[in-house]
Amino acid sequence: MLFIPAALPLLRITFPHLPWFHHMLIPLFITPPYLFLHLSRSTSSTITRSNHRAALKRYPYDHTIFHGSNDLRAPCIISPTSPSPLATPTCRTCQLAKPARSKHCSICRACVQKADHHCVWINNCVGRNNYLYFLVLMLSLTLLLAYGAYLGYQILHVQIQLQRSSSLPSSSPSSASSLNPHWSKHLSWSSYTQQWSAMIADHPLIAAPALLALLSFPLALGLMLYHVYLIWAGMTTNESGKWADLREDIGEGRVWRGKVEELRGDFREWGLESGSESGRGNGGRSGGDDCGFEWPVMPTWVVVRMEAAGRGPRVRKRRGKGNTNMDGEIGPMDGNSEQWEEDERWTQVRRLSEIVNIYDLGFWDNLKDVLLNRE
Ligand SMILES: [Zn+2]
Ligand SMILES: [Zn+2]
Repeated sequence: MLFIPAALPLLRITFPHLPWFHHMLIPLFITPPYLFLHLSRSTSSTITRSNHRAALKRYPYDHTIFHGSNDLRAPCIISPTSPSPLATPTCRTCQLAKPARSKHCSICRACVQKADHHCVWINNCVGRNNYLYFLVLMLSLTLLLAYGAYLGYQILHVQIQLQRSSSLPSSSPSSASSLNPHWSKHLSWSSYTQQWSAMIADHPLIAAPALLALLSFPLALGLMLYHVYLIWAGMTTNESGKWADLREDIGEGRVWRGKVEELRGDFREWGLESGSESGRGNGGRSGGDDCGFEWPVMPTWVVVRMEAAGRGPRVRKRRGKGNTNMDGEIGPMDGNSEQWEEDERWTQVRRLSEIVNIYDLGFWDNLKDVLLNRE
């Protein structure tokens, strides 16, 4: 509103060869940010009772940063008392099982599918359904800011040239073709900035928005590039925090992992069936259909964090082969330490690269998930 009325009359002088070009470009650059701001704002990714079941089927729990039961026949088995990493957590506010990759937002007062972050600029959560709009908003905003800064610079630059050529004695009439593009070549640094300061003061309606655009352009560009990186890495902003926490816990020696395949017996003990986990290879792709998830990769590993460093999950000692591990129930009162031993199925995780991110299918498939996996 400040820039355009002030800039329009100067476009013809600034771009004498293509006067209509920028008249066309300006609306093309200005419209998308407003359109996608509206779409990001008005599109909700919240989980309701009606879409809850579909939300649970979208992504399997990776048993690493999202723990829960991948048994779709009974997806809502919740065992709050069990220490099992396979117990599905409930949202205490929504009273619904939390699907993998979701997060409760206290501002939106709802759980959000594939929650990225609550964005104060759009006053809405960025999640599964509006992530694409948010990305296009970032992209169009970056382009608009760059274009606005360029236009402002170009207009004022030509104004300085005009001013200088008209102030020169015995100069030809000031037309764009007679302007010296190298006017600043022999100027000292201080008189160069002086020229610009004077021009900025003369045209505040052009200079102020252009400067604002120039200064905020890196912010929009940085945020957009960060989200390109997140897509490449197969993460949301919310998950990047969880991965960072996990990396820290690995450094402290508190993270252990065990194969889903080998731990299957325990699933039943934890009150969880293992049906959906069966027949899966080494975290490879499976047909999607046979496990009931839309996501092609199922977890191979269960990753847990221990309270203390250097000590993995333990099991009750078996008295002899063939005995169930319930044998240890009877024993001396002080014999606790004798009844438990290290569980050999778990190994300590030394670095983050040992852990598989099942939500990362590679850049193009991740992008496809962003583009197509919406309601
Ligand atoms: Zn919730
Ligand atoms: Zn929110």
